Amino acid sequence: MAGRTNNRRYLLWLAVGTATMALAMASLLVFELAQKRAIERSSAIGSDSLTALTFQFEREFLRLRQVLSEAVAKGDASDMGALAMRNDIFQSRLTLLLESPSVAVLKSREEYRKGVLDLRPMVAELDQALGAKFINRRALADVLAELNRLGADVQALTQAANSEEARLLEQQADVMGQQNRLIVWLTLAQLALLMIASASLVVRQRRQEAERLALEQLTDELREAQFRAEAASRGKSQFLANMSHELRTPFNGLMGMLGLLKGTQITATQGEYIQTAQESAGHLLTLLNDVLDMSALETGKLALKPMAAHLPRLLAEVNALMSPLAKGKGLDFHMRLPDAPLPQVSVDETRLKQILFNLISNAIKFTAAGQVVLTLCQRMLDAHTLEVVFAVRDTGIGIEPQAQLRLFQRFYQVEGSATRRFGGTGLGLEISQSIAQLMHGAITVESVVGKGSTFTATLQLPMVAEAQVPAAAAAPAPPAPTSGATQGMRVLVVEDHPINQKLVGLLLARMDCQIDFCENGQLAVERVQQEVFHLILMDVNMPVMDGLTATRLIRALPGTVARTPIVVVTADVMNEARDHALLAGANDFISKPLNVEQLRGIVQRYAAAGMA
Ligand code: ADP
Repeated sequence: MAGRTNNRRYLLWLAVGTATMALAMASLLVFELAQKRAIERSSAIGSDSLTALTFQFEREFLRLRQVLSEAVAKGDASDMGALAMRNDIFQSRLTLLLESPSVAVLKSREEYRKGVLDLRPMVAELDQALGAKFINRRALADVLAELNRLGADVQALTQAANSEEARLLEQQADVMGQQNRLIVWLTLAQLALLMIASASLVVRQRRQEAERLALEQLTDELREAQFRAEAASRGKSQFLANMSHELRTPFNGLMGMLGLLKGTQITATQGEYIQTAQESAGHLLTLLNDVLDMSALETGKLALKPMAAHLPRLLAEVNALMSPLAKGKGLDFHMRLPDAPLPQVSVDETRLKQILFNLISNAIKFTAAGQVVLTLCQRMLDAHTLEVVFAVRDTGIGIEPQAQLRLFQRFYQVEGSATRRFGGTGLGLEISQSIAQLMHGAITVESVVGKGSTFTATLQLPMVAEAQVPAAAAAPAPPAPTSGATQGMRVLVVEDHPINQKLVGLLLARMDCQIDFCENGQLAVERVQQEVFHLILMDVNMPVMDGLTATRLIRALPGTVARTPIVVVTADVMNEARDHALLAGANDFISKPLNVEQLRGIVQRYAAAGMA
């Protein structure tokens, strides 16, 4: 602000200075022209000098008088010729005095009247006398007398001319002197202006340099601050990831134990308490997953794992999970699918389900009565890409236009914490939007307060040939619960945490497995060389030796033991965790908290393989 005012003031000064300088130069030019004219005038006077004219006039006057007096004395005709010549010369001098412009200054003077004008009758008389047939001595004598009488006046004329010219020259010198002084002053003023201008330029240059340096310093500081902030943010994300990992382990125990407790002999009230505890734990797990996803998104670690997928089956799973939620609130929930069959697409199923769960559970959460409808539309973008549009429409509370703009921001919730009626973290939509963007799509919202909202996820998914869809995915029937298959199966549980040991032990015991425990990877490697196991459940983070190293070492062992099925069990749900496990040589990967059904499925699958 101050800088701009300074700049304007500087420009004003520059404009005023330039204008003044231009004015000074114009004045200089005018004076120089005036001087040139004065010099021309004085040189004109010089070439046709006043004093020269009067002096020559006087000389011719005297010569004429001389010749005339001689002619009067002699009366000779030969003298008449000389006299006529002198008269002609004298008259031409007289004409000059009458007509020459340089005589103008003299014309007002008495001497001019007497010495020039009063001479004219005498000249006429002389002309007449010279023009007569005979020499008229008397007339000539009269003229001579007249000439003699006028002699003093002619002399006075010369003196007058002298003084007049002196005065003129003096006047000119005065004017020129004055002009010269003015020119000197103007030049000095111009010089001063130039000096002021250059000084101000220097000052300005210095100030700008100082400002530039200050700006550079500020930029450096900002860069430094940004760097620190980014480092802090990275640290925070890392901390979040670590924390959620750490939280998962005891959580695993908690969830598992609650599940087991529910299966024991309890009263109805105890059952209700357990139900509430399970619901709270489920909620907590969702929050934990959200925080983990967010930090993964921030650190760019959330990469999609697209696989050939069967959309109708995926939607059936979504329906199975969401329907009870809607029914619980007395809402009508249904799906509208296109008539044309849905082509196979390549997509990260877990993440797509996450988007749909989030949009539908929001719709159910913010709708008190009416319905929630998921509509699916499809459109071929080109031979390889299918645009899939999932629209979740509800008849709920709706969202104000102002709030719609901020919905996808982190932690944003339409109702502030003070007036909250609904739970939530304000993370769901941001995460869903980020995932949709990873799928070359976006989520948009249309809503009318009091009428309801429609959240639309538009995704671009690559199509795959039918045959590429894995059979297991296409026919998702879980392995048949043939408990006989798991009976007597020898399972080695490599796990350092006593609660987790206990939980897995209890779950496996239900499947009639024969269980052994090891507290770390090294013990497991030693153990498998002594005994035969049908399956190893391998934790990752353990003291002494981690699970991945142990897996690699077992795979490197000689003999059939190297082919023992190993399933890595970890609380780390990041994408790399699965990759690392498979790279180390594990057959499979399951994440904590352990899902009873999932564990049962896995154990049964390897039991079946073991028997074959
Ligand atoms: P959360 O639901 O955990 O608060 P979200 O990011 O999923 O976080 O949603 C952010 C906010 O957007 C919600 O708190 C709610 O105010 C608003 N919102 C989301 N979906 C709907 C909906 N279907 N109807 C009305 N408001 C919604």
